[in-house]
Amino acid sequence: MQTKILLDEKQIPKRWYNVMADLGSAPAPVIHPGTLNPVTPDDLLPIFPMSLIEQEVSSERWIDIPEEVLKAYSIWRPSPLYRAHRLEKALSTPAKIYYKNEGVSPAGSHKPNSAIPQAYYNKQAGIKRLATETGAGQWGCSLALASSLFGLETTVYMVKVSFSQKPYRKSLMQLWGAEVIPSPSPKTNTGRRFLERDPDSTGSLGMAISEAVEDAASNDDTNYALGSVLNHVCHHQTVIGLEAIEQLKIAGDSPDIVIGCCGGGSNFAGLAFPFVRDKANGKDIRLIGVEPSSCPTLTKGTYAFDFGDTAMLTPVTKMYTLGHDFVPPGIHAGGLRYHGSSALVSQLYNEGIIEAIAYAQNGCFEAATLFARTEGLVPAPESSHAVKCAVDEAIKCREAGEEKTILFNLSGHGFFDMTAYDSYLSGQLKDYEYPAEAIAASLEKLPTVEEPTV
Ligand SMILES: *Cc1c(COP(=O)(O)O)cnc(C)c1O
Repeated sequence: MQTKILLDEKQIPKRWYNVMADLGSAPAPVIHPGTLNPVTPDDLLPIFPMSLIEQEVSSERWIDIPEEVLKAYSIWRPSPLYRAHRLEKALSTPAKIYYKNEGVSPAGSHKPNSAIPQAYYNKQAGIKRLATETGAGQWGCSLALASSLFGLETTVYMVKVSFSQKPYRKSLMQLWGAEVIPSPSPKTNTGRRFLERDPDSTGSLGMAISEAVEDAASNDDTNYALGSVLNHVCHHQTVIGLEAIEQLKIAGDSPDIVIGCCGGGSNFAGLAFPFVRDKANGKDIRLIGVEPSSCPTLTKGTYAFDFGDTAMLTPVTKMYTLGHDFVPPGIHAGGLRYHGSSALVSQLYNEGIIEAIAYAQNGCFEAATLFARTEGLVPAPESSHAVKCAVDEAIKCREAGEEKTILFNLSGHGFFDMTAYDSYLSGQLKDYEYPAEAIAASLEKLPTVEEPTV
């Protein structure tokens, strides 16, 4: 009985899958934040290379992965698929549980799957520097790594409270050559404005996005890079699901349930989208996105046009949203604290192709602790949401006497998040109620966009 199912380096997928080719209806247009008319590629050129803008709007089912990107992927890909024999035994479940381990990347999460191609395409376009934002630091680290591999400079605007509370991810970014600036900063107009209003501001992801976008838009040799949400990021992440399909073939299995945690939606998209075709072709397969109950974008949000950031500088997209100025409670799964969801994940959810569920954090840490004590690996707090869902589904199988095959994504390891485990183990971790009033107040500020008829 194999524990790890491994592919050869030659078997890294040569193409990304674009789910846009298999959607039930055309995606909603992306709207310019200033004019509230549909954006054109020219509007995006000051901050993105044309190759990525093309991927953003492409409806081609397959996108070739450049040779240089495959070479960089080969540092850690193909990632292993594990059969969770020990966890299954601990749960006395007849279910088979498999997981992809994306924690084996140099940055410790799935995020380099998109950081690498984003750095590559920007280098090809003659760009010298990338500007980005980071909350807890996972995306900043991934982009710093990718930039160092392709000879680009990186400027990371890091939410000020994380800059002081999470020093090790900052060190890791600096080790890979990035300049890390606590946000809000006096370096940008938007940063100065935020600081004038509140000199002691501890920052937010929305503010940091605004600073990075301004930096990229006002410097010709600098572009912007985003770690989730956008269509091209979802495409890049599909290497996870495409590898999993090949690995499950070796094991002689195919999943009944596919699970991933959902922040902006990219790691879930990466694992689940390659199975959307099977589902569209009539296969009985459940695709479940898991979110924190403190930031329940899919399960409690509204499907509407909204801004991607607090300062209302980024394009307006149709997505499930809690409102662009909703600030979620400070849970430890920092990567899941985003007010919106990817347009593609949102559309598939709206069409009933995928499902969503929300959990409070204590239950997730409980599942992660069981996982660490049986499988040995320590899940990132974000990934613990997927672990919890897989455990719950396996328990349902035990109760119903059903032998289902469950596949989930372990999106990253938790070695930089031991403070979170400390709080859990010492009983100090708080579960937050669903913040209904804050969400309702924020949803009142959605922009009014007339959906163009196509
Ligand atoms: C950033 C992050 C997430 C959430 O982002 P998605 O775009 O929803 O995948 C999940 N897990 C880990 C380990 C992360 O670093």
